[in-house]
Amino acid sequence: MDRAYKVYSIENGTVIDHIPTPLALKVIRILGLENEGIMTIGIGFRSDKQPGGKDIVKVENRELSHDETNKIALIAPDATINIIKNGRVAEKRQIKLPEEVREIMSCPNPNCATNVLGASTHFLLEKGDRIIYRCRYCERATEVNADLLTSR
Ligand SMILES: [Zn+2]
Repeated sequence: MDRAYKVYSIENGTVIDHIPTPLALKVIRILGLENEGIMTIGIGFRSDKQPGGKDIVKVENRELSHDETNKIALIAPDATINIIKNGRVAEKRQIKLPEEVREIMSCPNPNCATNVLGASTHFLLEKGDRIIYRCRYCERATEVNADLLTSR
C-alpha cells in the first residue's frame, strides 16, 4: 500500500502531521475546528519516529495562524505543520508552546474561580524544562496533559 492514496492530498489548506495516535480529534477540538468545513482525519498510521503510530489532520481551504498552530504544541510538540497552496507546500512551520492559553484548558484546582464561578480560564507559560502553566486566578502551577484540555 502506498501512503499517497491512504489520505488524499489537498490543493489549499493546512496539513498537521506527526500527531501521536490517538490525539487527532483532541487537536481538532483544541483548534475549535469541529464545524469548519472539510477535514480529512487519518488515525493510526505507522511511523518510524512514533512507535505508537501517528495521526494526520488535513484542513481544507484554511491557512491556520501561528497562534492556532502553536496550541497544538500543548499536546503534540512534535507535530509538523505544512501550509499548502495550489497543491504545493508553501510553508513548513515549526510550532512552539504558546505564552498564554485561554479557555481551552481547565484548571485542576477545584476551588479555582474558573471552576466555582465559571470564569474563563487563562494560563501563563512558566520558564523551565517542563511544560508548566500557571493559572492567573488561583496561581496554581499545572503540567499540561491532554485531559485538562477541554472540549469547550
Ligand atoms: Zn486556577
